[in-house]
Amino acid sequence: MAFDYDLFVIGGGSGGVRAARVAAAAGARVALAEESRMGGTCVIRGCVPKKLMVFASSFDGIEDEAAAYGWKMSRGDFDWPAFSTHLRSELDRLEEVYRSLLDGSGVETFDSRATIAGPNTIRLADGTEKTAGHILVATGGWPEKPSMPNAELGITSNEIFDFETLPKSILIVGGGYIACEFACILNGLGVEVTQFYRGAQILRGFDEEARGLISEAMQERGIDLHLGTNIVAMAPASADHTASWTGTATDAAMGPDAQTSAALLERGTSDGPVWVKATNGREQVFDKVLFATGRRPNTAGMGLEEAGVEIGRRGEIKVDEFSRTSVPTISAIGDVTNRVNLTPVAIREGMAFVETQFKNNPTPVDHKLIPSAVFTQPEFGTIGLSEEEAREQEPVEIYCTSFRPMRSAFAGRPDRVLMKLVVAQESRKVLGCHIVAPEAGEMIQLAGIAVKMGATKEDFDRTVAVHPTMSEELVTMREPMRTA
Ligand code: NDP
Repeated sequence: MAFDYDLFVIGGGSGGVRAARVAAAAGARVALAEESRMGGTCVIRGCVPKKLMVFASSFDGIEDEAAAYGWKMSRGDFDWPAFSTHLRSELDRLEEVYRSLLDGSGVETFDSRATIAGPNTIRLADGTEKTAGHILVATGGWPEKPSMPNAELGITSNEIFDFETLPKSILIVGGGYIACEFACILNGLGVEVTQFYRGAQILRGFDEEARGLISEAMQERGIDLHLGTNIVAMAPASADHTASWTGTATDAAMGPDAQTSAALLERGTSDGPVWVKATNGREQVFDKVLFATGRRPNTAGMGLEEAGVEIGRRGEIKVDEFSRTSVPTISAIGDVTNRVNLTPVAIREGMAFVETQFKNNPTPVDHKLIPSAVFTQPEFGTIGLSEEEAREQEPVEIYCTSFRPMRSAFAGRPDRVLMKLVVAQESRKVLGCHIVAPEAGEMIQLAGIAVKMGATKEDFDRTVAVHPTMSEELVTMREPMRTA
């Protein structure tokens, strides 16, 4: 049977676009449908605008540091409308780049939602059906709010980039990548940030020492972090809430100033400030509440189960190591498969899919030892096992140092950095490398090559230090801090 296309990709994010382009370059007739903007989460409402906001927020306090270095600078104000206008035009430009890359590769694009109507059939939003020899689902994920009354009053990371004006105060719920990154960003932009995390320490799953240092640094920078805390109730702020707050607040610092109270009495709408009651009994009114409580694979209403595609408990598409689903003509890559939810991983999965499906070269994706960064302030770069994970596995030596970097020490700033290697006692391999420092993301990309190659502690030691840098400590730590 002749199909309209060899490959139909659903989803124009990083993974889908890459797979479409590479398949087209391999000679396949390819189409791609995207219901929102081309570029997907990473480009439009994720990594790219987030990193630009990280840059914007990093100028906070720069005048004090510059003064220590002899510069006479006065503090200016942050102009959100100016920044966000620039940000939007940059995202428009990047979306165009994605479109022209697809056009240039000969991929036919549809600005439409697409669902699966059969093993080889795709239905567009207007009802048109297309057929393809193979379908690739790359629909990503979507932020998930907790199911609680009035949760709709909270926003998600999707809406952060669309603020008309910056809120004066925000409550961020969650302790993962997104919660911690936006806590730091918004704090740096001058927003009063409160963060609730239900567990004992933020960034669950990462190295404990690194988590502890980041948590301390975030609080030192002014983030009001409450561990072991969650929301129990929320509602549009009203006159009642304001009154009960001033009457019952146990902590004076939690109360609104007179000006805010007056504003709340006037507003009290669902777009306006939100009253929140926490598990610790405290109540507070915030201009915004941001739920950064995880993301869910975008599989709802896609026709996947009807076509026989197996879906997992979290709503993810179940795939094998070649990204093949339970239906031979349908594959899936990226966050919709909920394997390792990172842009570069989705891109790898897309390219491996094309190798397997269109180049007769079955290629699994290696999901082990993936370096990543959390763009908090300070940044966190990490690869491999945390100390806690490694100790469960085998006897280890821990090499670790924490110090004030030269730049901060000279400026009298309290910032500390952390360099840590987790080493297997027997094989001497570096099982994990964890860096908390400015530009840790840049550092871990390079250290990650060595760790991925299976470098031993002695390989690190044989490498001459680059002096004076922060990361030279990675090759100069001679004695283990502890063994376990
Ligand atoms: P995460 O899964 O990392 O974090 C979700 C957080 O929300 C956790 O702290 C979780 O707590 C908490 N949580 C979940 N449900 C509730 C609830 N009902 N009430 C209160 N708290 C809750 O998700 P994110 O949304 O932060 O990020 C999604 C993914 O996106 C990441 O896993 C990552 O793969 C990717 N990402 C990567 C980035 C990077 O590479 N720099 C940046 C941003 C995102 P608990 O720990 O107790 O489960």
